[in-house]
Amino acid sequence: LEANLADRQVVQYVIRRFGIHAKHKLGQNFLIRPDVVAAIAEAAELGEHVPVMEIGAGIGTLTQALAETGADVTAFELDKSLERVLSHTLEHYKNIHIIYEDVLKADLKTILGDKDWRCAANLPYYITTPILLSLIQSDLPISLFVFMMQKEVADRILAKPGSKDYGALTIAVNFDCTAERVLDIPPSAFIPRPQVTSTVLKIRRRKTPAVEVKDRKLFFSLVKMGFGQRRKVFTNAMKSGGIPADWIPEILEKADIDGKRRGETFSMEEYARLADAWYDKIH
Ligand code: SAM
Repeated sequence: LEANLADRQVVQYVIRRFGIHAKHKLGQNFLIRPDVVAAIAEAAELGEHVPVMEIGAGIGTLTQALAETGADVTAFELDKSLERVLSHTLEHYKNIHIIYEDVLKADLKTILGDKDWRCAANLPYYITTPILLSLIQSDLPISLFVFMMQKEVADRILAKPGSKDYGALTIAVNFDCTAERVLDIPPSAFIPRPQVTSTVLKIRRRKTPAVEVKDRKLFFSLVKMGFGQRRKVFTNAMKSGGIPADWIPEILEKADIDGKRRGETFSMEEYARLADAWYDKIH
């Protein structure tokens, strides 16, 4: 097809022509907004031969917009039944390679090699967080992610300490990356319509983590203690987290933290001070 695969009429035509029944359990909601796919491609900072991976090609809507920039596109699609659709809708593009595999099971290390990659996706909602975290916490060579996700998840990523959305996900993403909102998208931008509003985020990997810590594992176990038990004051969260009771006052003192506060109010810097004080106690 030569047409823009994000045009409503084109998407409706493709759905009819190939008898597609969108699979809810695979998170299949197809975009019908040319301006939105263009905004995602633009945010991905692409250009001739820039390698970009896409997660969930669907009928090829975003894949086409990425390829139009001249980038080298590698797209993953779990649903093998879309192969007969994609081989038709994207037949004119030499710079698109589609891999029919679960992105969470694919051997990304080998596939990506050592080039500097971008990653763009209208993510399948049922596995937004697992995909996001597995890519961010990996050492794969991806420096920029442009992801569409439920607005509710995006709000958690962008949340400030002490707010209701602030949580382990906020810290997990912001420790290694910076995140900014690109745009919000209403349910009417998709066929079929999802229940919720979506948000596109631009997530860039930091050169060094947001806060320096002596041991990343200790930092993240404290974060887990702090948010696993939101109702508990932090002293008690540390106790149930397995830190010996007689260490706790000393760790808090050294980190200059009031143990009567709740973990959900701590900034990343405060978690980092606690983690280093705990580290010093162990070593
Ligand atoms: N990119 C298309 C668009 O924007 O219209 C489709 C996006 S749709 C929200 C998500 C796509 O991800 C679906 O085509 C679905 O089959 C695919 N998908 C779901 N789980 C996947 C997985 N584990 N690995 C790769 N693709 C997956």
